[in-house]
Amino acid sequence: MATPGRPQSRMTVTTRSEPAHRRAEPGSRLQFLSGVGPQRALLFERLELTTVDQLLRHYPRTWLDARRFVKIAELDPGRLLTVRGTVKHAALLRTRAGRTDFTVTLNDGTGTLGCYFFGQPFLSRSLKPGVEVVVSGEIDALERRMLNPMHEVLEGDVAELLHVGRLVPVHALTRGLSAKLMRRAMRVALEDTADRVSDPVPLEVAEAQGFGSLGEALRAIHFPESDAERAEARRRLAFEELFLLQTVLEMRRHLVESGGRGRAHPAGGALVARAREALPWALTEDQATALGEIAADLARDSPMHRMLLGDVGSGKTVVAFLAALQVIEAGHQVAFMVPTEILARQHGVTLARLAESVDIPVAVVTGSTSAAERRALQVRLDAGEPMLVAGTHALLEDKVSFPDLGLAIVDEQHRFGVKQRATLAKKGVIPDLLVLTATPIPRSLALALYGDLDVSRLRERPAGRGRLVTRVTGEEKFPQVIDFMAEELAAGHQAYVVLPAIEEGGRPDVRAAEAEFRRLSAQPRLKPYRLELLHGRLKSEEKRAAMEAFASGAASVLVTTTVIEVGIDVPSATLMVVENAERFGLSQLHQLRGRVGRGANRSVCVLVAGPALTANGRARLEVLARTSDGFEIAEEDLRLRGPGEMWGTAQSGLPRLRLADLALDHDLLELAQASARSVLSEDVELRLPEHAPLRAALLAQYAAALEMLLSG
Ligand code: ADP
Ligand code: MG
Repeated sequence: MATPGRPQSRMTVTTRSEPAHRRAEPGSRLQFLSGVGPQRALLFERLELTTVDQLLRHYPRTWLDARRFVKIAELDPGRLLTVRGTVKHAALLRTRAGRTDFTVTLNDGTGTLGCYFFGQPFLSRSLKPGVEVVVSGEIDALERRMLNPMHEVLEGDVAELLHVGRLVPVHALTRGLSAKLMRRAMRVALEDTADRVSDPVPLEVAEAQGFGSLGEALRAIHFPESDAERAEARRRLAFEELFLLQTVLEMRRHLVESGGRGRAHPAGGALVARAREALPWALTEDQATALGEIAADLARDSPMHRMLLGDVGSGKTVVAFLAALQVIEAGHQVAFMVPTEILARQHGVTLARLAESVDIPVAVVTGSTSAAERRALQVRLDAGEPMLVAGTHALLEDKVSFPDLGLAIVDEQHRFGVKQRATLAKKGVIPDLLVLTATPIPRSLALALYGDLDVSRLRERPAGRGRLVTRVTGEEKFPQVIDFMAEELAAGHQAYVVLPAIEEGGRPDVRAAEAEFRRLSAQPRLKPYRLELLHGRLKSEEKRAAMEAFASGAASVLVTTTVIEVGIDVPSATLMVVENAERFGLSQLHQLRGRVGRGANRSVCVLVAGPALTANGRARLEVLARTSDGFEIAEEDLRLRGPGEMWGTAQSGLPRLRLADLALDHDLLELAQASARSVLSEDVELRLPEHAPLRAALLAQYAAALEMLLSG
């Protein structure tokens, strides 16, 4: 239950005078904070708040605007209003349910106002007749009273009110820890320590950004006097979060690079030129630019750390291949890592085809590669033969070793790129790293997650592609969808039908996919065609068979879950039907539709919404019909869903950003990155005394990330 609302004499102390109790230190345990004590400290611990400075970082979730004071006679319903009055009557009421409620009547000279509190009998000890009190709440139109208003006994000036009549902070709480206890503890913590909390943002950086002191910002974030003050404080504290993050990323970059040297792979070789000429088409302008950036990185002896960001079908593979050639031409080995077996096989085929014109060795390592084959490959690698090896991450890391790795290409697995590189770097020479991703990650998020990656982008689709149309429809149109599918199949084209990987109730994909497979197989118009089922629970042999049947054209329809999301390339597939489309993220849908529209024919993506589609949900899906710009879609997704859901940032080592908003704080993020760079450029190990607080904050917040770093 809530704590007794004893009058708090301390609340009358202004921020300027000496507190009447022993001051806590920023590092003190909360039990030593005046008004908390050992019992209540346990409550705070449930929120993982043990020390005073941790408490100060427990920022409000939101603020209620209860600043509008009115007379009782002027109270009108429908908004949060504040009234100052004197208690006239107070009474405890025993309800039939056995609960004791409390009611008071206030008078302010213009009228009387009843306030009713459910089950809070202890209030009778503080809200006694004659006491002056301030309440904030909404008035009930019919009964002209307030139910459970926020309230505070007025003991000093209204300017010192904590719980009412101001921008009232709403902090996350836990059972037994009331909002009032939280705010009182916060006020004491601020009074005692705010000016002595050490600031991880170095003074020169804070000054360059025009920030006020950290103490002011902490005070203003919890108890803002105005909207402007709160916005200012938020900006400073959000900057701090992003600055810490960017500092870690920059340190990581420096550390990885100082762990060994990179290698120079000269550009402009004959092999690359020959392969480029042999391509059946010209590189798009974006591809050529990206290749130029990569080639320049490869040619330098500092290690490359670059991401090639390109929408599905934008042609990343060929760029990566040409980059690989530059390294092979310089006499070194290249590993091409992909997330799944299916992709490993596909890439093996694509890369071998690309390599035909230049006759370089390409090997593929998959689960079905025999031990003897693998040994033979290892012998060649050990002999230092320059070659390109494609395979899954798991296999290339565990089963194959590259004595002379010049370049690691990591496809569709941006999250692991960094760790991969740290592992690879252990051997002294740091291989160049090229991370390919079709996930159109918004710029701000890329910066936040991979601030230490350089980025090349492919924005245009290669020419010669047919139009790709997207339609949003409902489940009731299923017969028309089938008719359309039958027409496409009759024209010799192929179709995907995709279901969400997880059913609504958390049911795994299998049954849904199987049920849909049966439903489609039973359609008379689809009878002439072969359908294949592919989902995550199949054995790897079965998956491969299904995939091959579809890729070869033997099967016309592939019913599947999101296992096909990445990489699959079947140019004669012209129809993508996504069922229960509302359950997918926009970026994911965009990825899926990228599976079609790869050939010269017109392609169609049909997003079939489930029955429970809201107007909002429909508007969301319509974004896809409207635009084909993956980056725009990703920004929209980020705005609608937040970064965590989209990118699994929890696993990425990104700490929870409490105030910073990656969808909104682009400018702040860039400032943070520039600031981090400038601080580290003069003190990369943060040994200077003025950087001690920054160092300490990083160790406290990024211990795990730093440990991974230092252990390589
Ligand atoms: P991504 O990996 O970016 O999704 P891919 O590398 O698989 O895209 O390329 C998709 C298809 O486009 C492939 O069939 C590839 O051969 C083709 N392609 C790549 N670049 C071009 C280009 N410049 N012009 C025409 N077709 C291209
Ligand atoms: Mg690809």
